[in-house]
This record gives sequence, C-alpha cells and structure tokens, in this order.
Amino acid sequence: MLEINILTLIYLIASVTFIIGLKMLSHPATARKGNLVAAFGMGLAIVGTIFLYRDDDGNKLHNYGWIFGGLFIGGIVGTLAAKKVKMTAMPEMVSLFNGMGGACAALISMIEFGHFAKMGYLDKIVQSYEAGEVVQDAVLTRPVPIETLLTIFAGLVIGTVSFAGSMIAWGKLNGKIKDFSFKGQHIFNLVVLTAVLALSAYLIVVVATVEPRPDPNIDDVIPKDLGSMPLLLFYATFGLAMVYGIMFVMPIGGADMPVVISLLNSFTGVAAACGGFLYNNNVMLTGGILVGAAGTLLTILMCKAMNRSLKNVLIGSFGGGNKPSAGDGGNKPQGTYKEITLSDAAVLMSYAHKVMIVPGYGLAVAQAQHACHELEKLLESKGVEVKYAIHPVAGRMPGHMNVLLAEADVSYDKLEEMEQANEEFPTTDVVLILGANDVVNPAAKNDPSSPIYGMPILEVELAKNVIVNKRSMKPGYAGIENDLFFQPKTSMLFGDAKKVLQDLIGEIKNL
Ligand code: NDP
Repeated sequence: MLEINILTLIYLIASVTFIIGLKMLSHPATARKGNLVAAFGMGLAIVGTIFLYRDDDGNKLHNYGWIFGGLFIGGIVGTLAAKKVKMTAMPEMVSLFNGMGGACAALISMIEFGHFAKMGYLDKIVQSYEAGEVVQDAVLTRPVPIETLLTIFAGLVIGTVSFAGSMIAWGKLNGKIKDFSFKGQHIFNLVVLTAVLALSAYLIVVVATVEPRPDPNIDDVIPKDLGSMPLLLFYATFGLAMVYGIMFVMPIGGADMPVVISLLNSFTGVAAACGGFLYNNNVMLTGGILVGAAGTLLTILMCKAMNRSLKNVLIGSFGGGNKPSAGDGGNKPQGTYKEITLSDAAVLMSYAHKVMIVPGYGLAVAQAQHACHELEKLLESKGVEVKYAIHPVAGRMPGHMNVLLAEADVSYDKLEEMEQANEEFPTTDVVLILGANDVVNPAAKNDPSSPIYGMPILEVELAKNVIVNKRSMKPGYAGIENDLFFQPKTSMLFGDAKKVLQDLIGEIKNL
C-alpha cells in the first residue's frame, strides 16, 4: 500500500513538472529548461510505473524484458534521430513524433478491446498469480462499462486520425507528398466519418448490452458468444478512421498546414488522455489533457493568424482545390523586378534610422540566424534601430522563427508580433526580408482568387524601402507568385541568406 502511495506522489510530482515545464516553454529564455523539467517528470513517472505499479489484485508488472527492450530501442532511435535532425527538418520530425503519440493511443484501445473480445467472447480473463505462476483463470461476468467502451473508441478513432493525418503532414512538410483532392471529397470525408461514428456506436451498444449465459465448466456465467464479429467490425472502424485521417489532410496545402498541424497535435493529446482514463492513470491523463488543451489553444491562435474559422478547419473545407502545390515552380512572372548590389544595400541600411528584419523559412534553410544577429549588432553600433517582424506562420512550425532567433541569442524584446510590426512599418526606412515569401505576399489582401486570400500578412510595402533576399524568383510554400517582388519600392538581393548576410556585414564594416 505504501508503494502505491509513493506512486501516487510520483504521479503528482510528474504532473506538476508538466505544468511548470509548459509554463516555462512559453518564453524562449526558459524554454530549454522547461523541456528538461517536463522530461524529468516524464522519466520519473515511467520509472515509478515500471517498478511500483500494482493492479487491482496486487500483481506487479512482470514483462520486464519487453518493457526494457522497448525503452532501450526507442531511447536509442529517439536520441539518434533528435541529434541528427537538421533544424529545417525539425517540423517534419515534430509531425512524425506527434503521429507516433496518436498511434500509441490507438494501440492501447486495440489491446484493451482485444482483451474484452478475446477469442470471440466478450469477457475479461483475470489471472491470479502466486509466486509469479498463473494458478487460476477466472471469468468476470460483469458487462464492460459503457464509459470504458466510449473511452476505448474515442482513443481508437482520435488516435488513428491523428496518426494517419500526421504521417501525411510529415510527407507534405518534406515535399514527398503533394496536395490531392477530387470532386466531392468533402462528401466522401463526411460519409467515412459518419461510418466510423456509426460503427463505433453500434459496437459500444452490442458489447455493453451483451446477455450473460451460463458456463457449464465453471460455476459461473459468461457473456454470450458473439463470435469474431466485434473484432472484425472493430478493425473495420480502425481502417475507416485511417482513411478519414489520410483524406482529411490530403487536400490541405499551401498556407493552411499550420492550422492542421496544431489540430493534429491537440488530437494526440486527447487520445492520450483517453488512455489515462482507461487505465485510471492520473499522470497520463494530466499529460494528455495538457497537450490536448495546449494544442486546441494553438489551433485557435493559428486559425486567427490565418483568418480561418475553426468550423471550416473541422469539416476540411479549406485549402486544397487546384492551387499549385509547394515548390512546383509557381505561376508566370508578373513583370520586371530590380536588383540591388551588396554595397548599395549596405549603404541604405547603415544610414537608416530604423531597419526591420522579416525572417522566414529561408533563414532556417540557410542557418543564417547567427549572421543575422551579427548584422543586427553591427547596425546598432552605428546607431540604427533594429527590430524583427515575426509572422505567426513564418517557417514550417508554430514558433519556428522564435526558436531560430533564440538559438542565436537575439533578445526577445526585439521581436515584434505581426500587428505591432504592421503599425511600425510606415516609420521604417528599410525592411530586410530574409527567406520569407508567403508571409509578405500582398495577394493575401488584394487578390480574392488567391489561395492565401484573407490571411493577415506583414505589410512591408508600407516601409520606405524593401530588400528581399532569396536565391531565385521561385515561389514559397503556397506555390504562388509574389507581387511584392515587382513593386517599385522593392529590390531583390539574390543569394543564400547566410552568404549574403556575411558579405553584407563585410561591406558595412568597410564603409
Ligand atoms: P515561404 O516558404 O513562403 O518562403 C521561403 C522562401 O525562402 C522561399 O521563397 C525560398 O526562395 C527562400 N529560401 C529558401 N532557402 C533559402 C536560402 N538558403 N537563402 C535564402 N532564401 C531561401 O516561407 P515563409 O516563412 O514566408 O512562409 C511560411 C509558409 O509555410 C506559409 O505558407 C505557411 O503557411 C507554411 N507553413 C507554415 C507552418 C508553420 O507552422 N509555421 C507549417 C506548415 C506550413 P528561393 O528558393 O528562391 O531561395
């Protein structure tokens, strides 16, 4: 009993570390420590569960070989993957890990339903142990509680949709999967979702209301034999949930992925919380609820940032269509653009009062964050005010630019959120765009036919001069032309962001 109390205490400590860790993650200065604090709590909960957990009959966990084998292999694969991953591949990895969380939750549901429907009987076999030996199999006759079944199906459906959707998101983020949609896809999705829900409801009713029947072998009753039907229908539900997860994310592309990614994140949290309910495990429940709630808040924030309603996201009626997919070369050129030399850019920036830097995905690709910070310090030493304008969906994951700039020790006070930055552009002399494209595309404001129409953008054209650094005239993630590059105030500074910044720093030093 004392051990169980210690385990409860461990779960409490772990839950508190999750909350503290999450709070610390909300600021770049404390984010790294926050991650460690929460990881420590998770480690403690895992070790505590392995060694101190007892079931209702006081049995310990006994399959240590599998547990430690899994921990060892998972630990090595996870550590190597996290160490080797490039900063630009981080969003894909986050999506992959999120999918794994969903898969785990779905597997828990499968195993637990399998227990209830074992060998065609809707029963629960309880094995008693004496000195580690199975001495008796007893058959429980109480029906499976309806809330247990609800939790199993919620975990299965949400976890599977999250897994399948995250795998598609992973493929889209690394460019291996292109957007795909067909006429009537929304209706198809709705039909599949309805089938998933109807099958789940049917199975819950069948299993929860099964009639007991006497068992001639033991002095007890066991539930009616339903054959293999429940398991077959259960796997059909799983298969349909997979199809829904895939078809839900397939058409979404262009600038709409951030909303889906944070939504899938919240799905995984909710699915994990279902596992917590099922096992009556408080720490799993707390962790799942925290991820679910944080993911939901992030989804709302992302919806706001993209100017989309959550309803449209949920019925999957945004994005997609026939817009060009990421990286396919884009549309026809819209006119002529002018270029600026490094020395002219150096002069323009050195004699400016205020310079606003707009970082984007290209800055992460070039790993130019340190050079960027060096340019900022150099300009400041010349009396120029330097700030960063951060668009909420710049890069390829929520908070991507904040993480990137924090890595280079850029002061958090220098980062301006979109609304704030838009107010400052009219008083800005030079905007330096580093590898950003979609987040500064005026089509979002001016062109109702554009797939990004309605998305709030950084209104850089309000500044006196705009310098755009990228390697070519190719489009960004949404795959669309950017009219900003052809405007009279804009000058292109072609090249890899890191090389250009290093050369620019050299030029400014020589002035
Ligand atoms: P974009 O993808 O629109 O543009 C990035 C630009 O960087 C490209 O046009 C590319 O042009 C340039 N670039 C690439 N490599 C380099 C380099 N080495 N040096 C200099 N430039 C480079 O990025 P944004 O940040 O503007 O927008 C993010 C987009 O990603 C949005 O559409 C958003 O919706 C989407 N997205 C965001 C997610 C999030 O959570 N933040 C998640 C999923 C998608 P070139 O090839 O010519 O160099």
